[in-house]
Amino acid sequence: VSRTFHPNDTMIQTAHSQIGGDNFNLIAGPDAIESAEHVLAMGKSAKAAGATILRGGSYKPRTNPYSFQGLGEQGLKWHRIAADTLGMDMMTEVMSPADVDLVGQYTDIFQIGTRNMQNFALLKAVGQQDKPVLLKRGMSATVDEWLSAAEYIASEGNTQIMLMERGIRSFDQKYLRNTMDVSVIPVLRELTHLPILADPSHAAGVAEHVTATGLAAVAAGAQGLMIEIHDQPTKALVDGKQALTPEQMVSLFEKAQAIHDIV
Ligand code: PEP
Repeated sequence: VSRTFHPNDTMIQTAHSQIGGDNFNLIAGPDAIESAEHVLAMGKSAKAAGATILRGGSYKPRTNPYSFQGLGEQGLKWHRIAADTLGMDMMTEVMSPADVDLVGQYTDIFQIGTRNMQNFALLKAVGQQDKPVLLKRGMSATVDEWLSAAEYIASEGNTQIMLMERGIRSFDQKYLRNTMDVSVIPVLRELTHLPILADPSHAAGVAEHVTATGLAAVAAGAQGLMIEIHDQPTKALVDGKQALTPEQMVSLFEKAQAIHDIV
């Protein structure tokens, strides 16, 4: 995945998105798929705001085993219907090599979450299939560890990989959930030809600071943003504290596009 071997930016083409190079991609959706109606409504708002990729988890990596774990295949079905109805790409997390075939029957893009960045069996499994993979940074991963994880996917034959900075652990997590490592973005743009996107929702962890965090990532050269949205954040089944309302998303995406056009 090094620029030494591949100087030109990788471009990832899906049915509704072209990711990489000078393009700027917007991804939005609920943290978790909650119902058919909800994912469709959130998708409609996301598309109206300029997003081409509808995110949402049906297999959720929860810290607490008693927290809502996602709707599994039922969620994948509702997510797929919403994406097809709206003409968007579907992106969802896969947590286990055993689920890759099933999730692949529905999704357009596989998401590998922060907790699985070094799940090598999973990386190999998504490397052996032919859909794009979004690889989030492990919450304590160095740049070299992250790029090596991407290399695991590429070495199995799948080079359609995009990287996503989602905040790392640092010494002070009192006010923010994680720390957006803004400076890693230009470093990665230099080291690798893969598209680099940012997830300010998980980095900030509180809705009040998602916009500033996302705009900083775009100013640093992020080629796309992923935002979690909910029409009633206090009722969200997962991570409501960090969810933007659809209106807040519109405002963020307008500013982000303007900053991207300058940098
Ligand atoms: C997510 O995007 O739904 C998610 C769980 O993110 P992360 O892996 O960054 O925590």
